[in-house]
Amino acid sequence: MELNYTGKVVLVSGAGRGIGREIALEFAKAGLTVLCVSKNLSSCGAVADEINANGGKAEAFAVDVSKSAEVKEMCTQIIKKYEAVDIIVNNAGITRDNLLMRMTDEEWEDVISTNLSSCFYVVRNLVRAMMGNRRGRIINIASVSGQAGNAGQTNYAAAKAGIIGFTKSLARELAPRNITANVVAPGFIETDMTAVLPPAIVEAAKNNIPLKRTGCVSDIAKVCAFLASDEANYITGQTIAVNGGLYM
Ligand code: NAP
Repeated sequence: MELNYTGKVVLVSGAGRGIGREIALEFAKAGLTVLCVSKNLSSCGAVADEINANGGKAEAFAVDVSKSAEVKEMCTQIIKKYEAVDIIVNNAGITRDNLLMRMTDEEWEDVISTNLSSCFYVVRNLVRAMMGNRRGRIINIASVSGQAGNAGQTNYAAAKAGIIGFTKSLARELAPRNITANVVAPGFIETDMTAVLPPAIVEAAKNNIPLKRTGCVSDIAKVCAFLASDEANYITGQTIAVNGGLYM
């Protein structure tokens, strides 16, 4: 695939590990300047260093994306230095699983603010400059849990389903400015997030997947790269499921 985005700037949240790290590396390979955002400088800093050491361009931002003021401050710095961001990938996410009866306010609020409110904060602060360019891409990472639901994940599924509604509305609002907004909804992808699951659960999950295997981070990064490319000009408001057939 010919990706025509030399000189463009992409912001990837949750770029320190797992899926976000791979998305950052994929865009760096294609020649973009990558703004790697994550909670801890040790992880987003290492990814930015890796990109810069390999001849790419990256800058790290250690920011808690669940905090409106921190995101605003980061975006102000970004606009000052880069003028605008061409592509936003809202990927940062956490799980705090529990049965609904036992779920604490904190587990609920942490998941909603980190997974869903963060998308609102990032887009709100960057969209004006993107609109000025009359071109842009917004890609939000949801989950199969937001499409199908998952016992023990009412907080996470609500946040991820919220991302889908948020993105569809954004797609309608921003279409007149030639900005597309889409969701990528991964199934079971091997990362730190899923490494904590007991082997028996992983085996059961694999058996449930029509393709009979878990996905890898590049399965998601390649779809993000496609959605950001000129080839995807006419795709907006969509949820692209990358899940081995787990939910159709
Ligand atoms: P991961 O390996 O746990 O990495 C999560 C990343 O998000 C880390 O870089 C982390 O920062 C960052 N992050 C977490 N909270 C943050 C906060 N408050 N502020 C800024 N950054 C924060 O997760 P993953 O498996 O790659 O998942 C990435 C996305 O895909 C998430 O939205 C997740 O819900 C979604 N997803 C994953 C799967 C899966 O099977 N893995 C399936 C469906 C959807 P630090 O590195 O600094 O700690």
